[in-house]
Amino acid sequence: MVFILTGCSQSPVVKETRTLMDTFCEISCYSNDKDKAISAINAAFKEMERIENVFSKFDENSEVSRINKLAGLDKLSVSKEVFNLTERSIYYSRISEGAFDITVAPFMDIWGFVLRHNSIPDTDAIEKALKYVGYKNIELKSEDMSIKFLNKGTKIDFGGIAKGYAVDRARDILISRGIKNSLINLGGNIFALGNAPGKKNWKIGVQDPRNKGKLLHSFELTDRAISTSGNYERFFEIKGKRYSHIINPITGIPCQGIISVTVVADSAEEADALSTAIFVMGEEKGLNLAKSIKSIKVLILKEDGRIILY
Ligand code: ADP
Ligand code: MG
Repeated sequence: MVFILTGCSQSPVVKETRTLMDTFCEISCYSNDKDKAISAINAAFKEMERIENVFSKFDENSEVSRINKLAGLDKLSVSKEVFNLTERSIYYSRISEGAFDITVAPFMDIWGFVLRHNSIPDTDAIEKALKYVGYKNIELKSEDMSIKFLNKGTKIDFGGIAKGYAVDRARDILISRGIKNSLINLGGNIFALGNAPGKKNWKIGVQDPRNKGKLLHSFELTDRAISTSGNYERFFEIKGKRYSHIINPITGIPCQGIISVTVVADSAEEADALSTAIFVMGEEKGLNLAKSIKSIKVLILKEDGRIILY
């Protein structure tokens, strides 16, 4: 999906790839102290694995699974970490006019993105779930750090923001261990720390999903993040028609019209949430949102082949 253009270096690279959060994760550190880089990378992976255990929807015992089971019944005290990410997710819902919404969870189940059933859900099921979906169903109380769902059927899914969040935390760990130059890539959510050896920055190419040998564009980044949301890596097909795993929370239908959205931002969390949001909002509204946030860049590839860079 994304690859790094800057190759050959003098400074030694320590690189490790693991499977994490249902995707791959690669951390590369450029440092003259190999042992320091190895232990920093291990600590960063450990932190991301910890985060996966908190936010996983596949693990019945994760904190998020517990919230989904209980917060519709009564208010539930949660960890500061989950409370804060929920609060920031609601912020992204507000600025995207509800396009980004962690309460899409029931739609993920109905459309079978988790347990694949390869059929189009009936409209009744979608209509019913529309009542549960909507970030306004989440009530947060900072006094006792509690979450309550105002509707029994409400559930949350951090799939559109948790990878970006995890990358930012991994970056913090690397920095705290003295790493100055590194790339963290968790399934297309990248943080570019410092610069490539002998260069002023990192040059990150965004691959054209229709032609893997070609680039749509490349961005020069230093201490910034880039994230791509697309319908070409994770999707499913029913009778030859492709459905993206990003769902419009207002309609309950998987989004169409866009192949991919890439966002460059100061944090991987912001890039992750906004790439998902803009994918839902579509070209016009998405670009308006992008224009209202000075610090981001956006690249949109439309299904009709148009490439929009802002
Ligand atoms: P990827 O997971 O491929 O990096 P995204 O960051 O765009 O892609 O996240 C898509 C995931 O986010 C979905 O798998 C689902 O868990 C969740 N999601 C789907 N639709 C929305 C939405 N409208 N708002 C927030 N999260 C969503
Ligand atoms: Mg996202």
